[in-house]
Amino acid sequence: MVPRTAATQDDLRRHNRARLLRRLHEGGAASRSDLVAFSGLNRSTVGVLVSELAEVGLVTEVAGSAGQVGRPSLMVQPAADSAVVLAFDLRVERTVVALVGLGGNVLVRKEQRHKRTSYTPHAALRNVVTLTEQMLRQAPAQASWVGIGIGVPGIVDHADSRVRLAPNLGWADVPFGDMVRESLGAQYGFIPTVAISNDADLGAVAEHVRGVGARNRNLIYVSGEVGIGGGIIIDGRPMAGAGGYGGEVGHMVVNPEGVTCRCGAQGCWETEIGRDAILAAAGLGGDQVEVADVIAAASSGNRKAQAAIDAAGEWLGIGLANLVNLFNPEVIVLGGHLRLMFPLVSGTVFRRIHYALPATREQVRVEVPALMGDSTLLGAAETAFEDLLSDPIDVLSRSHHAVAS
Ligand SMILES: [Zn+2]
Repeated sequence: MVPRTAATQDDLRRHNRARLLRRLHEGGAASRSDLVAFSGLNRSTVGVLVSELAEVGLVTEVAGSAGQVGRPSLMVQPAADSAVVLAFDLRVERTVVALVGLGGNVLVRKEQRHKRTSYTPHAALRNVVTLTEQMLRQAPAQASWVGIGIGVPGIVDHADSRVRLAPNLGWADVPFGDMVRESLGAQYGFIPTVAISNDADLGAVAEHVRGVGARNRNLIYVSGEVGIGGGIIIDGRPMAGAGGYGGEVGHMVVNPEGVTCRCGAQGCWETEIGRDAILAAAGLGGDQVEVADVIAAASSGNRKAQAAIDAAGEWLGIGLANLVNLFNPEVIVLGGHLRLMFPLVSGTVFRRIHYALPATREQVRVEVPALMGDSTLLGAAETAFEDLLSDPIDVLSRSHHAVAS
């Protein structure tokens, strides 16, 4: 009986330590009293757990401002330079990378353009490895590198980090997680947590953890890039579906008479509101043209550009009304070019959402991301921190020499 009880107590302590660190990482600095209230643990237990986290450098205690009565209380805060992750947002024509510290602070951020046609899985891998090296050189000297999170515009098998299909990159069945692990292992003699996820799923995670949906349990993030992606949080948890592929709202068929999609179906939502569709309708094309250019053209009086934005606004509203009826979300977050378009078409969008059932539409609000263009990037950072947040001291001890190499 004795060993079993000891093991159980050890597990419990590990679990509570993880809960406190996650609270600090997601919610920011808190006093010991806040942590007592949050955790339901007694004061001395919280004190012991905070000391353990402080001993390994994951948190620090600093003097807070004085309350109305008594001396200022100590604030426990996550130490941004104790543990870092690399976050990647691999887009069809752009790579964004960030070095992110514990607590979610972006320490270094960089963006690079690439050609869609030449961004093969091996080119992407070389890109990831090179940028990893550059970013780690800028990491704080004492930081441990605990993980790498990568968002891709495609569907990902979470069991083996395989990209099943990224139609706009032309990738099919790519074992990208294994490729990254192998390369990093060979280079550093150490493999951090590697998490590969769908870009819109990550956008949903970030907006749910530290964005406009931080107080909501039901959120849908719709990303507007070359394609249209969706990430759905139901009752506080990401909706995965049987294989982890749920939420592909871009391939919801909205116009059976529409054009053929890259997925092979006809009239998918992304063939009406995806970037290529808007550029084509506006009569603009070329490698460097973005939806922002169509918006600029429309606002300077270009009628064709205005008509393209108006039409996309109608289809955006039609698709959102379907999502409102299906999922009863509290908030829908519009990312990518939908974020830029929304202020111009919000009247149309709300008129279309009005066709959703009253009980559901009355509960929904439509927002642009609080994290602006970085929702996917910061969601990737969250997935990279996941192992550390589940078992802080153990994971830290396994990765402490990573950055020095
Ligand atoms: Zn499709």
